[in-house]
Amino acid sequence: MSDDLEGIKGVGSNTAAKLRSAGFTTIEALSVTPLREIISKTGLGQETALKILEEARRLMNFGFIRGTEIWERRKKMLRCTTGSTKLNEMFGGGIETQAMTELIGDYGVGKTQICLTLTATAQLPKEQGGLDGNVIYIDTEGTFSPERVYQIASERDLDPENILDNIILARAYNSDHQCLLIDHLFKKCPEENVKLVVVDSMISHFRGEYVGRETLSERQQLLNLYLHKLIRVSEAFNIAVVITNQVQANPAQFWGNPDRPTGGHVMAHACTHRVFLRRSKSDTRMAKVIDSPYLPENSAYFKITEKGIEDIENLE
Ligand code: ADP
Ligand code: MG
Repeated sequence: MSDDLEGIKGVGSNTAAKLRSAGFTTIEALSVTPLREIISKTGLGQETALKILEEARRLMNFGFIRGTEIWERRKKMLRCTTGSTKLNEMFGGGIETQAMTELIGDYGVGKTQICLTLTATAQLPKEQGGLDGNVIYIDTEGTFSPERVYQIASERDLDPENILDNIILARAYNSDHQCLLIDHLFKKCPEENVKLVVVDSMISHFRGEYVGRETLSERQQLLNLYLHKLIRVSEAFNIAVVITNQVQANPAQFWGNPDRPTGGHVMAHACTHRVFLRRSKSDTRMAKVIDSPYLPENSAYFKITEKGIEDIENLE
């Protein structure tokens, strides 16, 4: 799309090289980055950086738009099947593009299984509930399993090699690396016709690296910045972004569910749809919408099988 940095007024080949080597490979990426980050990463002066940023934002046509324009954009929104009709219904018809969906839950509850199933279903044609596009999977925990994707695809009568071939996997080894990979989405997504981006998990590196009270605000700022970049990616390229999050016990909680999502308010505010997962009886799972601008607080039951995610038969 907009990788022509030299197309920004005032950016010559020298400045463009500086921007690229700092990871700003597209006008899009620049336009969503705060000024001080551009300055600190590129070493450009404040005034120059500000001019470039303003110009990048102008080129990306940021600012006020009409309601009808948003409506036109929303009409292009697609929904991806999860593999379970009940879960799809809970999501208002499937996982949305132009939005970020957060899957929250304890270990082993099925977050990664949902993500892996989506890597196959997202590649289906739109008429079959897919997004008709490719997938980028940012794996921070090393739990992406090609064997499992192979199994899910085969069980769904899809060509497993073809499905695997259209998943672009990036293993993030620390939070810096994860951020860099997210920066690269602005270039990679349009290039590779990506329609689903998975970050599994969004927060584990941040939690592991920023320990102690004194680093908390720095961690939250960075997390906030990159969550918003993910939202921009989803909106700019009509992509479904799915991220996972863990829970932590809240000892202060006396009534109700003692587990709460990690990442605090930053996570809570950035994600469009937040969904809580938990184990239910006889190895079934329950999903519940806990926060969404328009989905009701519905819940749904599903199970994990060779096909990935499926409905539980005879539920009624
Ligand atoms: P997390 O929420 O920690 O990401 P996972 O998505 O990895 O959890 O889910 C792990 C669960 O998925 C395991 O408890 C296992 O029961 C189930 N599971 C994994 N593979 C299969 C499979 N091939 N068939 C049935 N269930 C599976
Ligand atoms: Mg997992």
